[in-house]
Amino acid sequence: MPCEVSEEVRGWNWSTYPLASPSQLKLSVSDIFNNLCESWRLLYLRYTRQERPYEIDVPVPLLEGSFIHSIFTEATKHAKGLLYHEGLLDAEKFRQGFDDFSRIKFHELLGNFKGIAHERAERIFDRIWGLAAYTYAACLDRFSLRSRYLVPDGLISSVVPLTTESPIDGSLVGLSKSIRPDAILWPTILVELKTRQQHPSDALALTAYAIAFESQYEIPQNFGVILYLRLNQDGGDFKVYERLVQFSDKLRTEFIEKRDRALTILEQGIDPGLPPECSLHCPYIRFCKHDR
Ligand code: SF4
Repeated sequence: MPCEVSEEVRGWNWSTYPLASPSQLKLSVSDIFNNLCESWRLLYLRYTRQERPYEIDVPVPLLEGSFIHSIFTEATKHAKGLLYHEGLLDAEKFRQGFDDFSRIKFHELLGNFKGIAHERAERIFDRIWGLAAYTYAACLDRFSLRSRYLVPDGLISSVVPLTTESPIDGSLVGLSKSIRPDAILWPTILVELKTRQQHPSDALALTAYAIAFESQYEIPQNFGVILYLRLNQDGGDFKVYERLVQFSDKLRTEFIEKRDRALTILEQGIDPGLPPECSLHCPYIRFCKHDR
């Protein structure tokens, strides 16, 4: 697919206008694009006043989203670990290796997400973990047939062709030194996993990773993928919808505008005040209501 991008907004032009950062301060991608606060007060509270959100205010859908991300990361790690540790397993033993660890992994992960009902968490875990086992086992079968001379390292890169939470240095473009997209699909396709409804900021966040990637490696990024995972009512099944994102000039310019706005608020250190309305999902809601 054709993709025309102006040179000036490619990440490797990080030192010149308009991409040059207006500040030496650095922000994470989620600080800018998971920002629920219209007036950006959330940033001021978090960084200038160093307030911490109330833990009990983290809504269950957000917790569930983090839980799903951690299953995705853990299943990917487990698949690679099995193959590195056991060598070239056949598909059935590989699946068994997933089954044997499923209860241990479930309880390990759930320990960090106590706000989710146990039964629902178990259904979500079993569905994603089981699907990972079958998907990677089928890939293992398919690639093992190709040649008798495959070595584990090469085979693993085909069976599990992604790296989860691979750090990218975003410091040249005003972002943190280790920003982490959910996955990088081999060779360089950025992937984000979302468990909530589509939002315009999803494509902007992925664009931020793409620009940082370009600034670090000087390899063009033209397209990325967002996977929207939709659980059914009881959490026992889900559907995944793919959205291809083109890192257009428009998205890149919007990234620059939002980054500059966020960094300016931090530089000034002045309370930007309350927006007309606050999201009920904001983790600072109980904090800010005293200021209304
Ligand atoms: S509670 Fe309202 S003002 Fe406070 S950070 Fe959240 S959205 Fe912003």
